[in-house]
Amino acid sequence: MRQEELENFKKVLLQKRQAILDNNLEHCKSMENIRGLSFDEADHVAMHMKNTLDSSIFTNHNTELEYIDSALTKIEQDTYGVCEMCDEPIAKERLKAKPHAKYCIVCREIVEKNSKD
Ligand SMILES: [Zn+2]
Repeated sequence: MRQEELENFKKVLLQKRQAILDNNLEHCKSMENIRGLSFDEADHVAMHMKNTLDSSIFTNHNTELEYIDSALTKIEQDTYGVCEMCDEPIAKERLKAKPHAKYCIVCREIVEKNSKD
């Protein structure tokens, strides 16, 4: 992969990373706000948050963050864009759609199938 392309992916990844971190910060802030409320109010809001599955979105974001961090490490180590399973290069179209992809399309299907079973 050309240096120019790598730089571009790095930029996209860093932007995504920042967006997730900002989002987490917002989440923490709203948790802070809850702590400032009276017990009854806090309880009510906490229940509401649980119901809206806000916390699962939070977890998803953190998983994505891990993927992004590992993709950034790979850029530094010059192994970016290589499938972790078969060591084949991941298609650029795929990386453009999902710059933190770990697997090529073929391996991703295998991984998804296995995780479903
Ligand atoms: Zn693969």
